Amino acid sequence: MLTNLTTRVSNRKRVLVTGGAGFLGSHLCARLLKDGCDVLCVDNFYSGTKDNVAHLIQNPRFELMRHDVTFSLYIEIDEIYNLACPASPIHYQWDPVQTTKTSVHGAINMLGLAKRVKAKILQASTSEVYGDPEIHPQREDYWGHVNPIGFRSCYDEGKRCAETLFFDYHRQHKLYIKVARIFNTYGPRMHPNDGRVVSNFIVQALKGEPITIYGDGSQSRSFCYVDELVDGLVRLMATPDDFTGPVNLGNPCEFTMMELADKVIELTGSRSPIVFKPLPSDDPRQRQPDIALAREKLGWNPVLPLETGLVHTIEYFRTLLVA
Ligand code: NAD
Ligand code: UDP
Repeated sequence: MLTNLTTRVSNRKRVLVTGGAGFLGSHLCARLLKDGCDVLCVDNFYSGTKDNVAHLIQNPRFELMRHDVTFSLYIEIDEIYNLACPASPIHYQWDPVQTTKTSVHGAINMLGLAKRVKAKILQASTSEVYGDPEIHPQREDYWGHVNPIGFRSCYDEGKRCAETLFFDYHRQHKLYIKVARIFNTYGPRMHPNDGRVVSNFIVQALKGEPITIYGDGSQSRSFCYVDELVDGLVRLMATPDDFTGPVNLGNPCEFTMMELADKVIELTGSRSPIVFKPLPSDDPRQRQPDIALAREKLGWNPVLPLETGLVHTIEYFRTLLVA
C-alpha cells in the first residue's frame, strides 16, 4: 500500500524554540525533550552558543538550525516558543536596531508561521514592559511607565510591540497565543560576560575582582531560578486555548543589589571588595511580580530560595572559569 506523504509518521509533538541556544532556551529545549517532544532549536548565535545545547545534540529528537528570525521560516510545527532576542542590557544595546527588528520582525515571522501551520505560539515577553514601574508589585493590568526614546527602549518597546502583534493576530486571525512576562531569571548557562547582575557578581567574586554595584545598591529585583521559570513556560503553553495571558512569571522574593552582593560574597567565600559605579540610565528602581494569576491559572508557585539557586549557579561558573 502506498504511504500518504502528508500523513505524519510520529505522533510526537513538534516544538520550535527560537533562541533555543540561549540561557533560557537551552533549558527549555532540555525540558521539552524530557517531556517526549521533538524539538527544533533555531538560533542565530548572537548571544547564545552551540555549547549551550552541545549536551542535546546526540538526542535524535533534537535538531539545531542556524537561522535569524527576522527572516521567514517555512517548517511544519505544532507549538512555538518564541524566545529569540538578546536579554541582557549589554547585548541588546550593542545593536539596538537589530534588537527591535528581532522583537518586531521576529514576532511577525513567527506569528505568520503559526498562522500558516495553525500552531500554538508563546511569546517570551518581559517585566521590562512595565518600565520603571509606579505601582508595586506589578500586576498584569498595569500598563507600564516606559521611556520610548532611551537606551533600554529598543528592548522594552520592541517587546511591547511584540505583545501588541500577538494580541492582534489573536483577535484578527484567531491564533492561539500565550504571553509570558518573565522577570529576572538566573542559573547555569547565563553568559559570563553579558553584564547581568547575578552572573557579574558571581564571576567577579570567583575571580577576586571588585563587585560592581551600580548606583547605591538600593534598587531591587526579584530573582527566579531557571528550572522553575521553564516549568512556568511549559505550564502556560498547556493552559486551555482561551487563556492568553499576559501572565507574570517570576519569583516574588525581592532583594536589593546590595543584599545580592552580600549573599554572593558569603556563598563564594570571596574577599572581593564592593565598588560603586554610576547607575545606567532608565534603570528601574524596583521590580517584583504579582503572580496571583500564574498561581491561579497555571498552578505555578516558585519556591526555590535564592541561596539554593545561587549555590547551583556558583558551581556552574566555578567549573566554567577553570575550563
Ligand atoms: P539569551 O540572550 O541567553 O538568549 C536569547 C537567544 O536568542 C540567544 O541564543 C540568541 O543568540 C538568540 N537570538 C537573538 N537574536 C536572534 C535572532 N534575530 N534570530 C535567532 N535567534 C536570535 O537570553 P535569555 O535570558 O535566554 O532570554 C530568552 C528570552 O527570554 C528573551 O526573549 C528575553 O527577552 C526573555 N526574557 C528573559 C529574562 C531573563 O531574566 N533571562 C527576563 C525577561 C525576559
Ligand atoms: N547591576 C549592578 N551591577 C552589575 C550589573 C547590574 O548593580 O554589575 C544592577 C543594575 O543596575 C540593575 C540590576 O543590577 O539595577 C539588575 O541588572 P540586570 O542587568 O541583571 O537586569 P535588569 O536591569 O534588566 O533587570
